[in-house]
Amino acid sequence: MTKTDPSPFKVPLSSPDITDLERNAVLEVLHTPNLSMGPHYLAFEQAIAEYVGARHAISVSSGTTGLHLCVRAADIQPGELVLTTPFSFMASTNAILYEKAIPVFVDVEPQTGNIDPVQFVQAAADLMAGGKAAEKWLPRKGAEQHGPLRALLPVDVFGQPAEMNVIMETARAHDLVVIEDSCEAIGAEYHGQPAGMLGDMGIFAFYPNKQITTAEGGMIVTNNDRYAEIMRALRNQGRAPGDTWLQHSYLGYNYRMDELSAVLGAAQMTRLDELLEKRARVAGWYEERLSDLPQLETPQIAPSTTRMSWFVYVVRVALGIDRDALIHELAAEGIPARPYFAPIHLQLYLIDMFGYQPGDYPVTEDLGNRGIALPFSSVMTEDQVELVCEVLGKLLLK
Ligand SMILES: *Cc1c(COP(=O)(O)O)cnc(C)c1O
Repeated sequence: MTKTDPSPFKVPLSSPDITDLERNAVLEVLHTPNLSMGPHYLAFEQAIAEYVGARHAISVSSGTTGLHLCVRAADIQPGELVLTTPFSFMASTNAILYEKAIPVFVDVEPQTGNIDPVQFVQAAADLMAGGKAAEKWLPRKGAEQHGPLRALLPVDVFGQPAEMNVIMETARAHDLVVIEDSCEAIGAEYHGQPAGMLGDMGIFAFYPNKQITTAEGGMIVTNNDRYAEIMRALRNQGRAPGDTWLQHSYLGYNYRMDELSAVLGAAQMTRLDELLEKRARVAGWYEERLSDLPQLETPQIAPSTTRMSWFVYVVRVALGIDRDALIHELAAEGIPARPYFAPIHLQLYLIDMFGYQPGDYPVTEDLGNRGIALPFSSVMTEDQVELVCEVLGKLLLK
């Protein structure tokens, strides 16, 4: 903690991992006139493309804007349906709503918090069949005039890939586009394959609490040339290849990543494997100290996750323990902690739009009610983990 830090906490909830390598790289860019659209965004894109083996990597201003571009590239129209998960950060659903398409939720499985593959296959089949079969998956209101099912938007929750084999088979069977939200999963592997590359398009995000950071930023990866071309145009005010500065072939956006962010990201990429190892070690320290407590469930890793990319460390309190009171007591002892995630379908504007009610997605709600994200980052020391676990253990035994 620095002298100016006003935080009442003894440990930060999350922290970027920045060294002189990153500081010097950013400073060097500040000595040049190219603060946007220079060489660094291209270098960062190339580093990510090489890391995951993608034909295209497209840097953007955030994970959220990356998700939005994927929805635009898939050409999803107002009223069309996108199958997704209510157990995620809001942005995965918002990207669908920006285009006035309709997110249709499938509940998650309790171990990983990833979309439940059995329900998922059924939902896709029923929505394709239409009529009565489709109705049970649709929201109570707001979908009276819906179009066809067009896309699947699974999320790799907490750094662990969703059951993407099942999801891809479903997509191929019904000719659907798959957008993989890997904003929490850079470096993770599913049956040996890199997260982000398991669907038609994947998105990584670099907010300061993510595994690597660019302050604000994101990256889309895809092997699809057509999607890549349209997304490169849309992020740059709709300028297609060959357009001049004031020629705009499409309704586009300014979703570009600046050069300071890009050079920071490129420097972080050279350290990604080191950072993931450090995060795994911190998760191991927690696991050692918490896995025997009967009042807590520690994170579970699916056999399909051949490499975990630890994003957060979320434990669940046993039934009957007051999660919110525990978070307050932790804060009073100088330990920050947070509920994680809040179910998307119960955000007020989704209730307004679609009439969702508590109980609609019971596993998501249960995980949302019992989950606590503990302080976690690659710079955390074993002593800090020890402190968090000591306080937590003491409060749970009261
Ligand atoms: C972080 C995150 C995003 C995007 O976040 P930005 O803050 O826009 O970069 C999207 N989806 C999930 C699941 C995330 O965790």
